[in-house]
Amino acid sequence: MSILKDRLAKYTYADEVKEAGLYPYFREIGSNQDTEVIINGHKVLMFGSNSYLGLTNHPKVKEAAKQAIDKYGTGCAGSRFLNGTLDLHVELENKLAEFFEKEAALIFSTGFQTNLGVISCMTGRNDYIILDEFDHASIIDGTRLSFSKVIKYKHNDMKSLESQLAKLEPSAVKMIVVDGIFSMEGDIVKLPEIVALAKKYQAEIIVDDAHAVGVIGKNGAGTASHFGLTNEVDFIVGTFSKSLASLGGFVASDKVAIDYMKHHARSLIFSASIPPSSAASALAALELMKNEPQLIDNLWSNTNYAIKGLKDLGFEIGPTESPIIPIYVRDNEKTFKLTQFLIEEGVFVNPVISPAVKSGDSLIRFSLMSSHTHAQIDFALEKLVKARKIIGFGEGTELVNSH
Ligand code: PMP
Repeated sequence: MSILKDRLAKYTYADEVKEAGLYPYFREIGSNQDTEVIINGHKVLMFGSNSYLGLTNHPKVKEAAKQAIDKYGTGCAGSRFLNGTLDLHVELENKLAEFFEKEAALIFSTGFQTNLGVISCMTGRNDYIILDEFDHASIIDGTRLSFSKVIKYKHNDMKSLESQLAKLEPSAVKMIVVDGIFSMEGDIVKLPEIVALAKKYQAEIIVDDAHAVGVIGKNGAGTASHFGLTNEVDFIVGTFSKSLASLGGFVASDKVAIDYMKHHARSLIFSASIPPSSAASALAALELMKNEPQLIDNLWSNTNYAIKGLKDLGFEIGPTESPIIPIYVRDNEKTFKLTQFLIEEGVFVNPVISPAVKSGDSLIRFSLMSSHTHAQIDFALEKLVKARKIIGFGEGTELVNSH
């Protein structure tokens, strides 16, 4: 065996979890991504999707994708920079810029690539990128591709942020990068305080609104809009893979910055553009999000209902204020057992263990969609209570076990 293969073969954790019958990843879904999916021929309620507005099966979104395929074909066969820019991409960029109230927008092939490109291309060796410790993996990887110094502060802790900012060289560029809604914890960034600190220390702000678009803000315009701070946020990053029912990512900012990124962001320049069907479906989803407020209202009705239900039942769900609800298990094996138990009982949730969260913070992520019904949520909660009795985890464990 080669040195490399020998090293790779030592990674046995996934096999061990498989042998225990608890492997929760790469499950094959044999249906569309909706509140109900088919797995191994069985109906399962989906509480692990990022399709917050439930638009991946909307007739208008699907029709737009089909029409785009008929007009433009299935792929662009090149990067935006060269042969891969369609009028459809530019139309979507213009609509995004308008919607997020910025001068311009730029589409990347995924949200992940957006962060890689945006974060790595603007700052130099003597500059600083400042991160919340719970920022998404793509933000962290973006900093790894930059040459700048990277500093982290404690999650949503403004004292910790200020103490970091105060130490930095005043003449350096300082870029604060945060999730709008944190992807595992579901809490909202303290943007007003960050804006005040950014002003005081002359820092730029990038907000990754992957989980906030379609969820908070005017017509789902995200975190900056939610706080009325659109002008104070320099860069709004987003994805089409969640509320916007497609695939791709974008950044909205002022013209100077977008123009610079068009010529320096390597994940944009050296990667193929999103296919016509993806651009068209994102455009259609954006229109629905803007024009059908009921979608967001339903999402919040479901979110509030689930948060209240879980709290009343004594589950530990942390400070979430969004459709992302972490249910803390705090033990990897129990997290896998719970996920497996729930799928067998007809409920799909995502297990989250270290390094996605700190070790000891393992959880299942329970995510709401606009299209869920309260009856579906009740069903899932009932199964969670049943699981807790059998597996024993989190708050209320003793109480349940003592019976
Ligand atoms: N940022 C955040 C906060 C995310 O949660 C995700 C996806 N989970 C991404 C970026 C990447 O988005 P995409 O799926 O479009 O690559």
